[in-house]
Amino acid sequence: MEKIVSLCKRRGFVYPGSEIYGGLNGTWDLGPLGTSLARNIKHEWWKSTVTQRDDVVGLDSSILHHPKVWEASGHIASFTDPLIECKKCHNRFRFGYDPITIYLDKEKGKYWICPTCHENNSGEPRDFNLMFKTSLGSVEETATELYLRPETAQGIFINFLNVINSTRVTIPFGIAQIGKGFRNEITTGNFLFRVREFEMMELEFFVKPGTDSEWFITWKQERLNWYLNLGVNKSKIKLVDLPKEEIAHYSKGTSEIWYDWPFMGWGELEGIANRGDYDLTQHSKHSGKYLVYDDYTPYVIEPSVGVGRAMLAFLVDAYSEVGDRVILKLHPRLAPHKVAVFSLVANKEELVQKAKSLYLSLKSQFPAVWDDRGNIGKRYYAQDEIGTPWCVTVDYQTLEDDTVTVRDRDTAQQERVSISQLDTYFAQKLK
Ligand SMILES: [Zn+2]
Repeated sequence: MEKIVSLCKRRGFVYPGSEIYGGLNGTWDLGPLGTSLARNIKHEWWKSTVTQRDDVVGLDSSILHHPKVWEASGHIASFTDPLIECKKCHNRFRFGYDPITIYLDKEKGKYWICPTCHENNSGEPRDFNLMFKTSLGSVEETATELYLRPETAQGIFINFLNVINSTRVTIPFGIAQIGKGFRNEITTGNFLFRVREFEMMELEFFVKPGTDSEWFITWKQERLNWYLNLGVNKSKIKLVDLPKEEIAHYSKGTSEIWYDWPFMGWGELEGIANRGDYDLTQHSKHSGKYLVYDDYTPYVIEPSVGVGRAMLAFLVDAYSEVGDRVILKLHPRLAPHKVAVFSLVANKEELVQKAKSLYLSLKSQFPAVWDDRGNIGKRYYAQDEIGTPWCVTVDYQTLEDDTVTVRDRDTAQQERVSISQLDTYFAQKLK
């Protein structure tokens, strides 16, 4: 993980948030390459979830919702984690996750030892709500207390009727959304794994009760296939059905896609839940509007994943070393640059001209990058490290027969391809 975090900073994928002010815990900023990678992940998700299907439409709801939304959804009452705080150093821990044990002593009663300062503390964990509070309006006394959304799903449920009344969707259908969410996590860590501000990709797929089990199975498989199609190593990813005791009381079933993380072993990458009719029923009760289709309340299947967590899985999965060199074997559709273009030598005007014009023509079709620093070997390695799948070099032979070498990142094999064929060559590979 240290190597990946350092690569991400050095090459501009991910920087620590607010770094020049000493950092802000649980926040990360995406650099130029990280921004491209995240956009590509979101694009692939949107393509497979929305644009390549006939039964899912998109939505982009606001981050701030009416406060009653969170009453109806149950977040005000129960979106909590058990918090325990040290009276001396004021470090906060998430009970049940951080290494805290409560001991029972006949004389002292219950006590626990702070892992940071070793202070002997009494007391038990209390429920801590993970929603960030903010207020609406400029006058403090009359301001309404609001929350930054901890998930994008509620924005979908509260627009259920709007979508039904303004589009031609018929059940089964889904509403998908990508957007920011905020959770005031007690502890953060493991790079992009647990953060306080994140982007989520969520789908609420509405089905007729009775067909929900089938759709649940379909979406579990769809989502697992998405990762596999984007090159994730089969032995590092799996579907896990959670036991009844670990899932929400209203859920008809919850599964997770697990990844074999380097910092914790198998753990959650994505959640897929059969939420039954819980959400629409709750919002019907609290809003007084009947959120029904024909005469029944649909059930909903919900696949939900954080962009950052997906990005971490793709980065970890792609990271490999050959000797002391790093090769980031990202799937070509996720790679920030698809092609790098070089002139074999920098001081031969004719070659540079030819390479530049090829670069401009490729750039109009794929994200391409120009590199004229150092020797050709160093340029290859620099591109391998950021996951560029192909490098195109213009050399002396190009001036004679209009062909270039195309080098493959993963095999280091070179192929001679005619310039006129390059468009179709890359288009084929990117399929
Ligand atoms: Zn302490």
